[in-house]
Amino acid sequence: MSLTATERLARARDAAAQVCDPEIPSLSIEDLGILRDVRIEAERIVVTLAPTYTACPATEAICDDVGAALETAGVAPFTVQVSLAPAWSSDWITAAGRRKLLEAGIAPPPCLTSAAGERAPVTAPLRFMRREPDRAPAAAWLPRTEPPPKCPRCQSPQTELLSEYGSTACKSLYRCRVCAEPFDYFKPY
Ligand SMILES: [Zn+2]
Repeated sequence: MSLTATERLARARDAAAQVCDPEIPSLSIEDLGILRDVRIEAERIVVTLAPTYTACPATEAICDDVGAALETAGVAPFTVQVSLAPAWSSDWITAAGRRKLLEAGIAPPPCLTSAAGERAPVTAPLRFMRREPDRAPAAAWLPRTEPPPKCPRCQSPQTELLSEYGSTACKSLYRCRVCAEPFDYFKPY
């Protein structure tokens, strides 16, 4: 029995949303805000992904995984495409995603959007360097200071930076001064 267009779209969305991030397997691409859009164009399912950064080595793997998930879900024909604009921001990590990061022992990034809910402009450069804490913000939507991340295990704010780059380029390595455990911090950008 063939699916209606609505059923096929829902099945495609469910299949794509369950694909995990290769670098943080406890988070799905939906949790990370990478899954931008799923729609039907002329009988073809079109899935649009927003990679966390242009040269992210995981992007190709994620595209392959989404394709495999769509194949398994039986929703072919389909296209998996990558869209670089608007640029992904760590603010797009969902509330569930932030909770799962904590559960994985990774301090989630602070949300950098303004109180008014203003998003970073799409022309903003993607960044991997941690934002300078004591510098005047380059734009109104940048925070004036970035407090050190709290320990994901004991919630202590007494943490210290060990290395600007942790297990991947998008994370820094910190250590908690209270429980002495090192942990990854997902840098905001
Ligand atoms: Zn701790």
